[in-house]
Amino acid sequence: MVVSGPSGVGKSSVIDSVIERTGSRFSVSATTRQMRDGEIDGEDYHFVGEARFEELVAGGEFLEWAEYGGNRYGTLRTEVLACLNRGQHVILDIENDGAHQVKTTFPAAVLVFIVPPSLGELERRLRSRGDTSEADIAKRLAVVEEQIRDAESFYDHLVVNSQLDNAISRVVLILQEPIPTGSGIDALPEGGGTETRSNSP
Ligand code: 5GP
Repeated sequence: MVVSGPSGVGKSSVIDSVIERTGSRFSVSATTRQMRDGEIDGEDYHFVGEARFEELVAGGEFLEWAEYGGNRYGTLRTEVLACLNRGQHVILDIENDGAHQVKTTFPAAVLVFIVPPSLGELERRLRSRGDTSEADIAKRLAVVEEQIRDAESFYDHLVVNSQLDNAISRVVLILQEPIPTGSGIDALPEGGGTETRSNSP
């Protein structure tokens, strides 16, 4: 499952609770951005330098990668394939470009976009976090409408986060929906990573 949404929408809270309730795994991405206070290397992200990120790209280690806000972010094949091979759901917190790439590689991936109740409410939440400058808030809000338009045309589900508990329950239900047969889960790509796929139970 891919979960996307604008910053400040409460995506991390939704993902953390869904993981807790369903025993799914979080796919820890690699990124070139600086670690923020409170973040843990290997848990929130694998924090890497530009050169290492370039090596991972060249080595075909990413299922997808994209540039966002001047930094690069990528989903490691090993993070995802190891879970799928164990029959476990895996949740990716990635932006829209990456979601498009994942859906192309894994047509069975379910794409969920978390929508704020309104742009005004999103602005209020971003400001109340206190860790985002006014310039950054303006930059982030400028792309939100575009992200939502893209999500409406491409994502499988849009979930409005006006009540956190309701949003979490909705995503849990979506995750528990059976994967339709012939939807592409058989087309798990091999190679690039160290994992191979087995269909045995
Ligand atoms: P932040 O820097 O605030 O943690 O994340 C910025 C954006 O990058 C968020 O929208 C997040 O979903 C996205 N992101 C995080 N990891 C990845 C990844 O591996 N691939 C892509 N495409 N986007 C990611």
